[in-house]
Amino acid sequence: MTDRPDDETVAFGFRRVEESEKQDLVNEVFSRVASRYDQMNDLMSAGLHRLWKDDLVTILNPVRGSSSYSHLDVAGGTGDVAFRILRAGGPNLRVTVADISPEMVNEGRKRAQIEGLSEKCSFTVGNAEALAFADKTFDSYTIAFGIRNVTHINKALAEAYRVLRPGGRFLCLEFSHVDLPVLDSLYDAYSFTVIPAVGKVVTGDGQPYRYLVESIRTFPKQEQFKLMIEQAGFANVSFRNLTGGVVAIHSGWRV
Ligand code: SAM
Repeated sequence: MTDRPDDETVAFGFRRVEESEKQDLVNEVFSRVASRYDQMNDLMSAGLHRLWKDDLVTILNPVRGSSSYSHLDVAGGTGDVAFRILRAGGPNLRVTVADISPEMVNEGRKRAQIEGLSEKCSFTVGNAEALAFADKTFDSYTIAFGIRNVTHINKALAEAYRVLRPGGRFLCLEFSHVDLPVLDSLYDAYSFTVIPAVGKVVTGDGQPYRYLVESIRTFPKQEQFKLMIEQAGFANVSFRNLTGGVVAIHSGWRV
């Protein structure tokens, strides 16, 4: 594996690629898997992603009363997290999804219609590193399984800070690093063999899933990511490991 920091290249899974190339490569991955994305999430995580997302929503605790509340879900893809937040919140909660992939956003819009949530959930195509929203627009911000795909994590964190209102909450759900001796080798074996194989059977192509697994291994460890969130200006930053650190939820508050 090569994850040496270097001036002109960044990690795309275990490969180093030109900084300017990475987002296009990521976009290709998600445009290829968009139509099967939700089905694959269930298969790859044996349904666990649902529990992890529910934990995220419980921590967010979206407002249930009648006050108006505006939430942003970045890299929100097919809307899975946005819909859970809407179902948990009150009548005046509105969620905006921003995702860089038009294919994922299209799937999300279709799902919102089917689930009767189109009025409360708007989908936009946009980059986490350069959000098209004014400063201090949102009461809270989530990013689930998205931040490891962006080219410059620090820019995405700075944008999260910028668009949140003072007192607003930042939450990130992301695959992380297991440090339990048996679980980590089982998890490695599962990730590098089962996931690309299942991806190949379901979507006809194992390559995007190989990238997804590799990108998890090159993402910063829990403590290091916590530091990055603090460096972006957030206060009271903490994290919670789920499933032995397979995923972690990082939390911070906009000052
Ligand atoms: N949050 C959704 C979920 O948990 O089901 C989707 C997660 S999916 C693994 C990652 C998403 O990140 C994809 O929809 C992809 O298009 C999006 N993405 C990748 N790079 C991005 C960027 N720079 N800005 C916004 N979205 C991005």
